[in-house]
Amino acid sequence: MKNTPSFQCLRCGKCCNPNQVNGETAYFIPIYLNEVERIENLAKQKALKITLEPDIMYHDELNDRLIVVTYALRIDKGGCPFYKSKCIIYDQRPITCKAYPLSIYMYQDTTCVALKSECTFVQQNRLKLKNLDYYELNDVFCDEFPFSREIQIMGHAITDQILALEAEKKVRIPIKIPVEVTEEIKQMEKIRLDEIKRELENEL
Ligand code: SF4
Ligand code: SF4
Repeated sequence: MKNTPSFQCLRCGKCCNPNQVNGETAYFIPIYLNEVERIENLAKQKALKITLEPDIMYHDELNDRLIVVTYALRIDKGGCPFYKSKCIIYDQRPITCKAYPLSIYMYQDTTCVALKSECTFVQQNRLKLKNLDYYELNDVFCDEFPFSREIQIMGHAITDQILALEAEKKVRIPIKIPVEVTEEIKQMEKIRLDEIKRELENEL
């Protein structure tokens, strides 16, 4: 491979504490349904108050409710609640943190890799990283890459599950984009996607 370093987190804490970041900031960490209980339990164990708010939701027109498919861990002015000079849940941190600073996504049938520009390692190595292809980036970020791929796969699985429910006429989603949280829809009943799946399994 070209003269490119392997990713080494510099433990600068910028990604956990947006107050240290100039420019692009993240104000929440996406939390997937299979992580909610674990993250809430970790917060309880550490005696921390955290807020997980429904993030990506679909409007189920048939049952007049919102289907929650991801939550958001709020990051307030003090940074991530799990950040105390370092991440205190490092081994059990959310998958988005495990994938950081990578983001893999599809654009016009092509798989693309984006690097978070606020990451200090990315900033320090941007010239060396700039022209690397998918496979070379996989080598540089060998620990993070599988998690980023997993996030991408989870995203596809969520879409497939919604489409399957729609095909079974259990839900009706008028527009296949996540709805924005407005005052009006804040009042609507919210149900988690995995709860609907459990309910349907019990019906069988
Ligand atoms: S969970 Fe840990 S790694 Fe993730 S933002 Fe919070 S402190 Fe940082
Ligand atoms: S910004 Fe980059 S280098 Fe700094 S702690 Fe986060 S991942 Fe590590």
